[in-house]
Amino acid sequence: MKNKFRLSHRLQNISYSQTIAMSAKARELKNKGYDVINLSLGEPDFTPPNFVLSAAKKAIDEGYHYYTPVSGYFDLKKIICEKFYRDNRLKYTPSQIVVSTGAKQAIMNVLLSLLNKDDEVIIPAPYWVSYLQMVKFCESSPVIIPTMMKDNFKIHPEQLEKAITSKTKLFLFNTPCNPTGSVYSYEELKDLAEVFKKHPKIMILSDEIYEHICYSYKKHTSIAIFPDIYHQVITVNGLSKAFSMTGWRIGYIGAPEWIAQSCDKIQGQMTSCANSIAQRAAITALSAHSNKIEYMVKEFEKRRNLVLDMIKEIDGFQFYKPNGAFYIFPKISYFFGKKLYGKMIKNSDVFSEFLLEKTQVATVSGSAFGDNECLRISYASSEDKIIEAFTRIKKVLN
Ligand code: PMP
Ligand code: GLU
Repeated sequence: MKNKFRLSHRLQNISYSQTIAMSAKARELKNKGYDVINLSLGEPDFTPPNFVLSAAKKAIDEGYHYYTPVSGYFDLKKIICEKFYRDNRLKYTPSQIVVSTGAKQAIMNVLLSLLNKDDEVIIPAPYWVSYLQMVKFCESSPVIIPTMMKDNFKIHPEQLEKAITSKTKLFLFNTPCNPTGSVYSYEELKDLAEVFKKHPKIMILSDEIYEHICYSYKKHTSIAIFPDIYHQVITVNGLSKAFSMTGWRIGYIGAPEWIAQSCDKIQGQMTSCANSIAQRAAITALSAHSNKIEYMVKEFEKRRNLVLDMIKEIDGFQFYKPNGAFYIFPKISYFFGKKLYGKMIKNSDVFSEFLLEKTQVATVSGSAFGDNECLRISYASSEDKIIEAFTRIKKVLN
């Protein structure tokens, strides 16, 4: 019997993270001496702000070397409540907060808390790469609502209403959206909230990790702002994107107390707590007003505009202007069925492979995000790298 079949069915049922796999492939080629430009991973290239770095150094000197309370230091949870009120107008108390090892663990804690076998989870597509696999890992059934580029990749309330059944347990989405860059407006969220109000048993996981990365005067709104559904919402956030602290692994939730308690229970058995030094640094980071990180957002906006200028020069790419996060998600189905340099482009996986082989630019196939006709390109890289990458792509495709 092959060892593969000895693994749990739960594990056999899920796939590797395609974003992480692609980025590992790019790293491997780079190590072999190839001049790879990695636009696959959603990882800001900034150093975390100096005031946060100083806070971490201070925490080491002050001796924060030990296990923390499972759900996070109490003073950090208090600061998170202040942050939620300051930035999102959401009222939470520390007993509603759980700090975890990245937003990834925070999301998984919530899913493990809520989901039983055969429960249905509604996910709009394109979705973030891990949502589908996490839901499958819980042996629940993802119910996908496809969206269209002409609708800026956003769902309508009628679509939501149609997808709801007696088995629906959770709605899982993110705004600003990875991979599309779309941002739901206050009004659009209000319309969705009206639907959830009619279904008070359905919970909503709102992943807001890109909240600060919004462009062109678009503002992020938290869906928990609508009082009728506040008790149905789990708001997820973290430090990876806004503070460029991906490796520090701090994420958190604001949630109804019963959910927070359940995440605490899971975390107490699985990890004990998030990293103590990173938690101390998070206190400083989250105490700061968002204008302290505006310089990064401005830079991302410049890069977004640069990408828009360059991508329109490439024949066969159809795209929508992203208003947030740091990805563009063009439709590349124009190339399907065509032979490029002897390679038959069957789908977005092959197209992404082709780009890596022919231009050494790493991207991620849209299939990872539930849209086989698109390609995700991250612009969390320097302007020089973006210019070089798009110049190479244009040369090969035009
Ligand atoms: N949600 C989304 C939409 C993301 O893009 C990411 C990126 N990693 C995460 C959650 C997880 O973030 P973290 O690094 O905090 O685990
Ligand atoms: N969120 C990033 C991405 O989508 C990081 C990779 C990951 O966590 O999967 O590329």
